[in-house]
Formats: sequence, C-alpha cells, structure tokens
Amino acid sequence: MSTGKIGVTSNDLFPIIKKFLYSDHDIFLREIVSNAVDASQKLKTLSSTGEFKGELGELKVRVSLDKEAKTITISDNGIGMTKDEVEKYINQIAFSGAEEFLDKYKDQANAIIGHFGLGFYSSFMISDKVEIVSLSHKEGAEAIRWSCEGNPEYTLETTEKSERGTDIIMHVSEEEKDFLDEAKLEGLLNKYCKFLPIEIIFGKKKDWKDGQQVETEEDNIVNDTNPTWTKKPADLKEEDYDNFYRQLYPMAEKPLFNIHLNVDYPFNLTGVLYFPKINNNIEVQKNKIQLYCNQVFVTDSVEGIVPEFLTLLHGVIDSPDIPLNVSRSYLQSDGNVKKISNHISKKVSDSLHDIFKKDRADFESKWDDLRLFVQYGMLTEEKFFDRAKKFVLLKNTDSKYFTLEEYEELIKTNQTDKDNNIIALYTTNPDEQYTYIEAAKAKGYDVLLLDSQLDNHFINHLEQKENSKKYVRVDSDIVDKLIVKEEAKKADLSDTEVSEMPHVFKAHLTDEKINYTVVFESLGSDNQPLLITQSEFMRRMKEMSAMNPGMNFYGEMPDSYNLVVNTDHELIKKVIETKNSELGSNLSELNQQISNFESEKSQLEELKKDKKEDEVPQEEKDKMNDIINSISEENKKKETILNEFGKNNDLAKQLIDLALLANNMLKGADLAKFVKRSVDMIK
Ligand code: ADP
Repeated sequence: MSTGKIGVTSNDLFPIIKKFLYSDHDIFLREIVSNAVDASQKLKTLSSTGEFKGELGELKVRVSLDKEAKTITISDNGIGMTKDEVEKYINQIAFSGAEEFLDKYKDQANAIIGHFGLGFYSSFMISDKVEIVSLSHKEGAEAIRWSCEGNPEYTLETTEKSERGTDIIMHVSEEEKDFLDEAKLEGLLNKYCKFLPIEIIFGKKKDWKDGQQVETEEDNIVNDTNPTWTKKPADLKEEDYDNFYRQLYPMAEKPLFNIHLNVDYPFNLTGVLYFPKINNNIEVQKNKIQLYCNQVFVTDSVEGIVPEFLTLLHGVIDSPDIPLNVSRSYLQSDGNVKKISNHISKKVSDSLHDIFKKDRADFESKWDDLRLFVQYGMLTEEKFFDRAKKFVLLKNTDSKYFTLEEYEELIKTNQTDKDNNIIALYTTNPDEQYTYIEAAKAKGYDVLLLDSQLDNHFINHLEQKENSKKYVRVDSDIVDKLIVKEEAKKADLSDTEVSEMPHVFKAHLTDEKINYTVVFESLGSDNQPLLITQSEFMRRMKEMSAMNPGMNFYGEMPDSYNLVVNTDHELIKKVIETKNSELGSNLSELNQQISNFESEKSQLEELKKDKKEDEVPQEEKDKMNDIINSISEENKKKETILNEFGKNNDLAKQLIDLALLANNMLKGADLAKFVKRSVDMIK
C-alpha cells in the first residue's frame, strides 16, 4: 500500500469543493455517472479499433444506494484504471491561477468543475470519504483501491476485484444525508442522465401488486440511450417527434411544429426544437429548452445561447462546441455561441417559411398560436424581421389571413388617404367596437383583428419601418375621418351654439377620470347623432405604457375622449331647439349682458392701449377687474342654466347613454338608469 498527497497545494482543493461549490451539489451525480459512461464508451472505441481484444459484454452503469452503509456507488464495466493511471489522472491535478479564478466564479459550480477538470472530485461535495475500486481492461492488470477522506492525504493499494471496470464508492456525509434517498436520486438521474448513451441502471423495476409497490426481477433502466435528436431525420416519423416531446414534457399540450437541427460544420450541433402552443400569453412559459453536451444534461437556462425570442420554444439542443463551463456574460460574446445562435434563428425562420410555402392552409390554421412567437422575434431581431416579413400574417375580422404584401394590395385602392398614406383599420375587440366596424365595412373598408398581446408594439414597429403605412383603430375617429380623402364639410352651427351646447351634453358625462372634448361635425342625417372616439395616439401610448414601466408618464394621464356631435342629425337639432325654446329668453338676456360687458371691456382696452402699466389710472384698473369678474359670473350663471337643462333633458341623456353604450362604457348604476328610462320612454 502506498500513501501520498494529492498534487495540488494542500489548502486549495477541498475548501474549494466544500465551500465554493455549495450552490449546486446535485452535479456530483452527473459528473460521476458521465465519467462511468465515458469509461464504457472508451472501451467500445478500443474494441472497435482492435486495441482491446477481450469480451466487451453488455456495457452498463449501475447506480446503487446502501442506506445502512450510507453509501452511493456508481459502477461501470468500462476501461478501468491501473495504479499508474490513478496516480496520473486522479492524484495529479493541474491547478494554476486558482485563487483568481475562484474569486470570479465562486457561485458557479459548473465553471469551477469544468475549468479544473474536477469532475471526479465533485463527489467530495457530498461525501466524507470516497473510494475508487478499479480493474483495468489491460491484460494482466491488478485491481486497485484508492481511498481519500476529504483531505489531501490518500491511500492507494492493490485489492481483489474480479470484474473489469470501476466502482466509485461515496460515503455520504452527515450533512448531506438527504442524498441517501431513493426518490431523490431517481429524480437527479432523471434530470441529468435521462439521455446518456450507455444504459444506467438504478435498482429494480417496480410493479403494483395488491395495492402495493413491489420490486420485479427486471433492472430499472433510467435513460433512453438513443434519443430522437441523435437519429437521422430520414428515419423518423412525425409520431416519433411527438413521442419525444411527451418524454421531455409529459404534461404539455401537443406542439405545433418541430425542427430537427443537424449541423456538423463549422460547429457541431444537433437537436429538436418544438413550437409549443403559446395560447396568447408569453409569460407563462415553464417548459424550457434543454441544453446537452454529448447527451449529458447541462442546463435549461439557455439565455445567452439562443436569442431571447427562441426561449419560447421547447426541445433539446446538444452541442460539444458550446463552452459550457464559463459565465453567461462570456457566452454572450463568444464567437462560436453567436454563430450557433444565428444559425438556430435562421433555421427557425427558414422552416417556418417552408411550412408557409408548402401548406398555407396548415400554416394559417396554426397562426393564432404562432403569431406571438413570430411577432416577438420580429420585434427583437432585425434579421428575423427581414426573413419573417414574407410569412407573417394579418387576420381580418372575417378570419381571412394575408401576408403584409397581400394586405397592402387588398386595401391600397380604397384605403389610401389624401396624403398618400395607406391606412389599415383594425379592431382590438369586435364585440365592443361593433358599431365602428360596421360603419367602416359599410364604406367598403377592411378591418383587421389585432387582439394579441404584442400587436400594439408590432404595428408601431411596422409603422417605423414604413412611414406611408399607418394602423388606425376603427373607433379612434368618426368613420369619415379615419381615412381622410378630402377636406370634410364644416358643421353648420352658430358661435353661440358652439359655446353653449357642450355644457348641455357634458352635464351628463360625470366620470371624473375621463376628459371629454365636444366637437361638432356635419356627418349627414343618416349617421349616428353622437359618437365617442379616442385618439389613436393617446390610446396606444397608454396601452403600451401598461406593458412598459418606462412609459409611466402616459399611464398616469386621464383618459381623453372626443364626444362627436353630428349637427345634421334631427335629434341633435331637436335638443338644440328645445334648449332654445326653454331657455331662449333667459339665455338671450344673459348673452346680451355678457356682450354689453364685453364691449365695455374693449373700450377700456382701447383706452389703455398706448399706456404703460403704471400710467393706467387706478380707477380704470379697478373697473377692468370688475368687468372681468362680471363676465365670468354671467358665464357661470349661463353654464349653470345649461347644465341644469342638460341634466333634465331626457333626449340628451338618452343620446349620450347610447353613445356610451356603443363603446361599452355605460356600466353599473348608469346602465340600470338607462334601461329604466328607456322602458319609461316606450311605455
Ligand atoms: P475529466 O473527466 O474532466 O477528465 P475527472 O476528474 O472527472 O475529469 O476525471 C479524471 C480522469 O479520471 C478521467 O479523465 C479518466 O481518465 C479517469 N476516470 C474517472 N472516472 C473513471 C472511470 N469510472 N473509469 C475509468 N477512468 C475514470
């Protein structure tokens, strides 16, 4: 027996393992099992080249748990190690610049393990003592036992072992005794070892018998050694891809499409990506792309490796060329990673384009589930935008789909305004905006349905790309002004009415959170008497601010709407007439007084015109103030009278309620009152 010191500065290794690797103790299992798999594959290679002439047998890795002895043992029948090899591969650890590196990556077990080739030593994260019992495949080799108790001293001696291969025996420490649990180990094997290329056996298969679980004779194989992504696409059917998806995400809905990645130049990459059903909500994405390195699970946080929008996809990427053992910020600037990421993005857009070209009907039928993904990609990746603009679809209110080009062709004749802008009209809610949609359709306009989470951002983006194309929601103005083709006819109303009527209508608009501006339009006697519209710009800004905290300014502003009064409508005329007949003499008296004050005011202004402020006699100043106060008082009286009238005029009330109702803005008590009033009116 020999003893010795592990070939690193004595104080370095074990504190690193125990102290720095706390974040991810689970990794030990992946490291030890993949070493065993490597040892088996190496032997396979040696056998195929004829260097190893013995019987290969069935190469398997066995994971066993002994709760009493408090050990976890990983056994393989691979190449094994001779005494010299243990000296060389286990006892000598190359270690340079350790301090500096550790400081930088102290929370990243993956980086440390990979950097120092510490795979085997990760076993000390959970053990007080680790033993290696190994018999090399080499002819005449002697079995050896290496043992170490988590300090730099080890022992190495010959021993008895009849079977070729290696057992790694981990004596689990008291604080890590949670790992001595079958379910926990099985869970870890499932996470890290599910697709390793050599069979991994963990205990026996279980069966249900008389309501109880009992062990069978059959080995419990925890992995699929030949996962779908490692096979040739030509050998696979649609069903195989679906089955593999279920293997990855047992609870998920069937995906829409898949893409088989298979690259060997200029980097190695295989994998299968799936388009899941996103269901109009990009936030709830719990299933993630899994990243493998030669079938060993590495991580399921692929941010930095694939463009952000691709993280919405599901599936597997396997590449030995992604440097997995470095930090994320490094990954993002790594040339290879960039190439891989560009490749995946291109592959994804190419395959969507292919499906679009080959089977448009199928593509359309899946579009509602795909659009968020495509829009997200187009918003965040310039290159993807350029590729996807050929197949991104717009859907109209008749559920017909168009590419951007097709849609422009469809609307350009009838929906170009006087400034040569092509105006696409859209609705975000066909039920709520029903009257506006109907009005637009009656004019021969087409209306798009834009009800996805990203549509708002998406049309902004499209407008930025092409200035002469605009998107306008159907209810953002009266139909004649949505697409202005010629100057509109002026409303035929006297200045007095223009100043008086807003008070009548506003008397009934009491919601303090909304600002209304009353505008008068001559819309023809067949059109609605009153309409409520909201400016496209303000509404979009407010909606986008709800998704984007940086735009809070817009979110805090009150909602502003226009109340459009159609002066051609007979009911509006009637309200005006009633106002005049009921308030006529009252108002004209007030108006007369106001106009008297106004003329006095202008006389005074005439007087002081050429004087400097301090040359104006105090008497004149006082008089001016009195007049201004009187005008304001008279105006207030007028407003009060008009307001009172508005409140009591059932017709004005009814017209406003109908306009609110058409916008889905009449709610609660106001709605109940409206219903009651309507019933009373028809009684
Ligand atoms: P790495 O696997 O990154 O080289 P490890 O610390 O995991 O680093 O392993 C060091 C070396 O020990 C391996 O390269 C291999 O030569 C040897 N080794 C580890 N486990 C086994 C095993 N089960 N069978 C044969 N050799 C092994």
